[in-house]
Amino acid sequence: MLSGNMPIFVLKEGTQREQGKNAQKNNIEAAKAIADAIRTTLGPKGMDKMLVDSIGDIIISNDGATILKEMDVDHPTAKMIVEVAKSQDTAVGDGTTSAVILAGELLKQAEALLEQGVHSTVITNGYRLAVNEAKKQLENSSVKATDDATLRKISMTALSGKNSSLSSDFLSSLVVKAVNAVAEERNGKTIVDTANIKVDKKNGGGVSDTQFINGLVIDKEKVHAKMPSTVKDPKIALIDSALEIKKTEIEAKVQITDPSKIQGFLTQESDTFKTMVEKIKKSGANVVLCQKGIDDIAQHYLAKEGIYAVRRVKKSDMEKLAKATGAKIVTNLDDLTADSLGKAEKVEEKKISDDRMTFITGCANPKAVSILIRGGTEHVVSEIERSLNDAIRVVAITKEDGRLLPGGGAIEAELAMKIRAFANTVGGREQLAIEAFARALEIIPRTLAENAGMDPINTLIQLKAEHEKGHSSYGIDFEQNKVGDMNKVGVVDPLQVKKHALESAVEVSTMILRIDDVIASRKSSGGESPGGMPGGMGGMGGMPY
Ligand code: ADP
Ligand code: MG
Repeated sequence: MLSGNMPIFVLKEGTQREQGKNAQKNNIEAAKAIADAIRTTLGPKGMDKMLVDSIGDIIISNDGATILKEMDVDHPTAKMIVEVAKSQDTAVGDGTTSAVILAGELLKQAEALLEQGVHSTVITNGYRLAVNEAKKQLENSSVKATDDATLRKISMTALSGKNSSLSSDFLSSLVVKAVNAVAEERNGKTIVDTANIKVDKKNGGGVSDTQFINGLVIDKEKVHAKMPSTVKDPKIALIDSALEIKKTEIEAKVQITDPSKIQGFLTQESDTFKTMVEKIKKSGANVVLCQKGIDDIAQHYLAKEGIYAVRRVKKSDMEKLAKATGAKIVTNLDDLTADSLGKAEKVEEKKISDDRMTFITGCANPKAVSILIRGGTEHVVSEIERSLNDAIRVVAITKEDGRLLPGGGAIEAELAMKIRAFANTVGGREQLAIEAFARALEIIPRTLAENAGMDPINTLIQLKAEHEKGHSSYGIDFEQNKVGDMNKVGVVDPLQVKKHALESAVEVSTMILRIDDVIASRKSSGGESPGGMPGGMGGMGGMPY
């Protein structure tokens, strides 16, 4: 019944599809476009991007992960590149721009090979061989150091990569102080849980007003003026239910016919709050941090008892407070006992700008510390917050791992040289791919030079010459705008950041290279049931069974 020439429709008519070379080319173009978009932000002389959303809110940033996260990216492959930045950010906190630029360059180099007729499988194999060799070389080139001066350098490099106008020196000393404060020795290993460092911001003042606090800061004031402003040796109660009388779902009307009963009604309400406060007092608490509201009358009784109280504390802060002070978060006041209370050295209200904030200092176990960022405007403090978070992560990683590499494009130039030598030992077509990998690595020093306004070609030639002479730590010296020794200038990056950037760039570029078909798929969130294909079968009418 079926003629042999009848076409077989597997895909629904009109399905969008790109195949073979075309698909590969488009994917590479999309990835390159993303990498190109953020290239100018790399390094201390990099430019910033201003992101404007549909309602006109703006973000000004130099952070690769932030820019890509905020960009309205549509192309599926471009989205994969954005994922690289995210994964780099979650894993190590820095090196996001580098990872994306590398991925873009690996694809650009691959494109040239594809045009010469080298198959994508050969390219991906070559890239894999190269990245394994590169990781080995990175480890061999790394040096160990965890002293404070080195940690400060690591922080400076992470911060100056973002914004050279920041007071990086001062901020770096705060970062190192914070990381040292929360570092712990466990089974002979140094562990830094960066979750114990809380970064807060308050605009107003200058960057130099940024402060390190040996404890936690909550952006809330005490609820009643008559409460004490300072409580020494506080016994802290964390309550996550409201100190209010529950409003009924249904609107209720109370009719009081006898004027003498009004007082009785009010007294009854007031008694409820009195009992609440008595329960708190009985537990021994003299500080109450409440996640919900506190009624005016309850505030009055708390003040009368000399208890310091704060309302509407953020849930995330409550959790940090519980961890830092050892308090248990209590919902029912009947469960509030002496051993559910937390301890610290001091709870204090302080005025910052025009706002009052609550400082909980001297928390013992685990140590919790904060950095309160100050700066002229919202945009400034937000960008500092992002930079500080990166710096905290890299300093923490270095404190734990201790292995460092020279920055400023030095390690990439060194790797490129070593990978070229390695390519010769491999031979065959893979050799071409490994050489392409080495060329791709040079995008980092080249872009750094470009962004500093230096001649990229001459700089790269000089850089290569130095590395061939055995000057393995030579990179781009931004202060003098020349090729120089990064160990002397003090520009160092953690091994883990470089290693992860390489790995993720290779992972995504090889993944993109292996795709030879892009087919529009059914919406996963659509109404169609996963099993049945109500509309989908239509095009398969000619299927012979
Ligand atoms: P990423 O998101 O990849 O961290 P950055 O914009 O932070 O991007 O730039 C990081 C690069 O800039 C790294 O290669 C780092 O070594 C280099 N870099 C940072 N500060 C300096 C400096 N003062 N001199 C030379 N290179 C620097
Ligand atoms: Mg950086």
